[in-house]
Amino acid sequence: MLQLLPPSSRFRSIATQLIARIVLLALLSMCVFVGALAWWEYRAGQQNFRRDMQQHADASLLLLSSAMWDIDPAMVRNQVSWLAKLPQVGFVRVRATTTGELFEGGQLAQPRPPAIAINIPAPRQIQTAGEIPLGTLEIWESRSYYLELMRNSILGVVLGYVLFTTLVCMVVAMVMRRQLRDPLRDIAHFARGLKPGGQSQTLVLGRPRRAYIDEIDLVARGFVQLQNNLQSHIADLDQLVAERTAQLEQMVDEVKRLSMTDALTSCYNRRALDERLQSEVERCRRYGRPLSVVFMDLDHFKRVNDEHGHATGDVVLREVALRCQRELRTQVDWLARYGGEEFLAVLPESQAAEASQLASRLGRVIRGRPIDVDGLHLTVTASFGVAQLQGEESMESMLERADAALYEAKAAGRDCVRVSEIHARGHKKSAAAMERPSALGSQESQP
Ligand code: GH3
Ligand code: MG
Ligand code: MG
Repeated sequence: MLQLLPPSSRFRSIATQLIARIVLLALLSMCVFVGALAWWEYRAGQQNFRRDMQQHADASLLLLSSAMWDIDPAMVRNQVSWLAKLPQVGFVRVRATTTGELFEGGQLAQPRPPAIAINIPAPRQIQTAGEIPLGTLEIWESRSYYLELMRNSILGVVLGYVLFTTLVCMVVAMVMRRQLRDPLRDIAHFARGLKPGGQSQTLVLGRPRRAYIDEIDLVARGFVQLQNNLQSHIADLDQLVAERTAQLEQMVDEVKRLSMTDALTSCYNRRALDERLQSEVERCRRYGRPLSVVFMDLDHFKRVNDEHGHATGDVVLREVALRCQRELRTQVDWLARYGGEEFLAVLPESQAAEASQLASRLGRVIRGRPIDVDGLHLTVTASFGVAQLQGEESMESMLERADAALYEAKAAGRDCVRVSEIHARGHKKSAAAMERPSALGSQESQP
C-alpha cells in the first residue's frame, strides 16, 4: 500500500543529507587523525630534541669542564647562555658540585624534570678514577617551540583535509544534482501530471546520452513499464466493461421483452397492451389518423379444457395466437393477450371496415384448419368485436365499445364479427354481422 507523507514532512534533498554526512564523517576522522598526528609529532619532537641536545651537550661539556675547573664563571655563563638561545631549548641550568653555584639561562614556566641531565667531568688530562664530577648540566626543551612546530604541521593537515572535503562535497553535490535530483524531480513532476486517460504521455528525462544506464534509468524504465501495464489493464477493463454493459443491455432488453410478453402465446401481455395502446391512441389522435381494435374471444373454449385438458387448451391458444399474428401487418399491427382466451388486435392506420375485414380473415384462419394436438384435430372458432377510435374518445371507451360488439357477436351465435357503430352523440354501439359461417364454437373431429 502506498503511504502518503505526513503534511508536516519537511523536504530535504538527498544531496544535502549526503553532504551533511560526508562533512560529519570528515570532521570525526579529522579529529582522530589530528589527534594521532599530534601524538606522533610530539613523540618525534621529543626524540629530535634529545638527539640534538645530546650533540650540543657533548660539544659544550668540554668547554664547561675546563671553565669550571679553571673556575671561570663568565665562561660557564656564556656557554649556558649559548645553549639557552638554541630555539629548541627552554631552560638550561649548570650546578657546580663543590660550591653549589647555579648558572641558569632561559625560562621555565613550571618546575618539571629536565629532558637531559649530564654530569660535567674534570678535564680529560686531569681525570682520575672515582673522581666526583665538577657539576651537572640540565637542559629543558622549549615546549612552545615544539608546540609551534606541531601546530604548523597540524594546520597544514587540517587545511588539506578541509580543502579535500570541500572538493568532495562539491563533486558529490554536482553529481547528485545532475544525475539524481533533476531526473527524480522530472519523474515526480511527470507522475503528478498524469491524469486518467493520459497514460500515453511519455516520460522524457533531459539527460545526456551515455554508454551505460544507472538507477535513474531503471526507475524511468520501471515507470514506463508501469504505464504500459496500466494502459493495457485499463484497456482490458474498458473491454470488460463494454462486454458487461452489452450483456447487461441484452439482459435488460430480455427482461423488458419478457415483462411485456405473454409467456404462453408470445403476444404482448396485458401490461404492454395498456402502455402501447395508450400511446397509439395519443399518436393517432395527435395526427388525426385512424385506429381500430379487434376484440377476439374463443368460442366455448371452456369445453376444450374440460374435454381435452388444460394442456391441450394451451396448445390451442398458442396456435390460434400464431395464426392471428401471421395475418397482421408486420411493424404496424400487433396482437395482445387480453386475458384467458381473449385477444386484442390493434390496427393503427385502419378504419373500422378494414378492421372488420381483418377480423373476418382471422375467423377464417382460426376455423379453416383443425388444430392438431396429440392426434386430436380440434376445430375452434372465435367471435370478434370491432371498434374504431372516434375523435377525442378515450382508450377505455373504445375498448368498451369493442367489448360490447364482441358481446353482441356472442349473443348472435358466435363465430362472427360485430362492428361498433357510433351515433351522432355518444358512443352507443350497434353491430352488424359481417360473417357467420357456423354457430358452433368448437368442432372436434377425431382422426
Ligand atoms: P364463450 O366465450 O364462447 O362464451 O365460452 P367460453 O367457454 O370460452 O367461456 P369463458 O370465457 O367463460 O371461458 C374461458 C375459459 O378459458 C375458461 C378457462 O378455463 C379458459 N382459460 C383461460 N385461460 C386459459 C389458459 O391460459 N389456458 C387454458 N388452457 N385455458 C384457459
Ligand atoms: Mg372469455
Ligand atoms: Mg370464450
